[in-house]
Amino acid sequence: MVSYDVRLDGITKRFDDVVAVDDVSLDIEAGKFLTLLGPSGCGKTTLLRCIDGFETPTSGDVFIRGERVNDIPPFERDTSMVFQSYALFPHMTVGENISFGLEMQGFPDRDQATDGGVATNGGFGAAFKRLVSRTGSEEIDARVAEALELVELPDYQERKVSELSGGQQQRVALARALITQPTVLLLDEPLGALDLKLRKNMQVELKNLQKELDTTFVYVTHDQEEALTMSDQIAVMNDGHLEQLGSATEIYEEPETEFVADFIGETNLLRGSYTETPDGAVVECNGLSFRVPHEPDADGEVSFAVRPEKIRLGKDARGLDNVFEADVTDEIYKGNLGKFVVDLPNGQRLTVDMQITDRSKYFSTGQNVAVGWSADNAVVLTR
Ligand code: ATP
Repeated sequence: MVSYDVRLDGITKRFDDVVAVDDVSLDIEAGKFLTLLGPSGCGKTTLLRCIDGFETPTSGDVFIRGERVNDIPPFERDTSMVFQSYALFPHMTVGENISFGLEMQGFPDRDQATDGGVATNGGFGAAFKRLVSRTGSEEIDARVAEALELVELPDYQERKVSELSGGQQQRVALARALITQPTVLLLDEPLGALDLKLRKNMQVELKNLQKELDTTFVYVTHDQEEALTMSDQIAVMNDGHLEQLGSATEIYEEPETEFVADFIGETNLLRGSYTETPDGAVVECNGLSFRVPHEPDADGEVSFAVRPEKIRLGKDARGLDNVFEADVTDEIYKGNLGKFVVDLPNGQRLTVDMQITDRSKYFSTGQNVAVGWSADNAVVLTR
């Protein structure tokens, strides 16, 4: 039986007139890596903060392992958060920062809420004193060492955080969140401040770590490639609401809305009128007729999406369901991959990605070529 670590039931969060999260219901399976993906301002962070307890939903319920936690403060929830800004204490050592994660778990004055995940003012001072008096304890030392092993920074306990690189600081922030062994680890754009190469390495490491720990990860990003690389499930958000929930393949290959088709990867979106004919479904679009898969919900105006890599040019286009003459208006040569922009006779512009296995597959601006794709490679979108 599938068990869920997090259940969000009709979560709405308003800030005055802004509806940051709009009636989102979402079940997050135990031990899975779920990504909240969407453009800036779509409500991802607010939803994450509702799970953690830093925000209280205006309406709706949050459940963690079946328990309704709306009224439970952040540090009593079985969650831990990793922030893009790391929220580390620069003049404390790595070990002190990480064991502070444990201290937060036993933080007595829970009304002393946090700013960016860090206890503030007098609350922190008191907690820090207790922490220092306890860092010698064997159990804490052992758990810090274990957390540092996990993030591949062994023997870094005594280093000052200010002496670490951005990537190393990120690992420390991760270790601090993991040391409490939370049921759910929440990560808010944790790789956002890293350079591209490091980010790509960390994506793989984070995914491996998640599998190894078998802990539920809820990860926020606006980077669709990052989401596709790491996630078991992706929840695509737009303007506060949930557009689609699915695996990376489902989101990429079977988008349910124009927004998802357009936001994830690159696509060609065409609009027209859907009709069923004896030869199959077609969309009439500015004087051309395009064969598309049968879509039971389609009626009248629809759009359909075709990915650039599903389109063929030249002799590879022959015999496909949709074949047209087109003019090449732009080409970008990328070694073994060519990106071409072609115009159909009705003025519709398409982007095509082709593997260049030999020179006959390379086309130049101004050339007239056949362009084609199979009906099955289009996705009809009714929303
Ligand atoms: P980003 O990727 O830029 O971080 P996001 O998808 O995480 O964006 P949120 O930070 O959740 O989006 O913000 C959603 C909306 O709610 C935005 O319009 C934002 O301005 C608004 N918002 C968020 N927090 C507050 C707040 N404390 N007070 C008022 N408005 C807020």
